[in-house]
Amino acid sequence: MAVPQNKITRSKRNMRRAHDALVAGNPAECPECGELKRPHHVCPSCGHYAEREVVAIADEIDFDDEDAA
Ligand SMILES: [Zn+2]
Repeated sequence: MAVPQNKITRSKRNMRRAHDALVAGNPAECPECGELKRPHHVCPSCGHYAEREVVAIADEIDFDDEDAA
């Protein structure tokens, strides 16, 4: 098994990790419902993409419905 020849100092380790920060996303406003969504993705709240509906969104799921199971 390969083993590091030298100890990485706290300084060198922290210098490497200085570029590891996560960056925030770039949300875009849905032209249909105004909800924030990921650019170039179907809107999760209304199911529209490029102002046409591509995914039907269920209005409400009835968890008490006995026939559903
Ligand atoms: Zn939407």
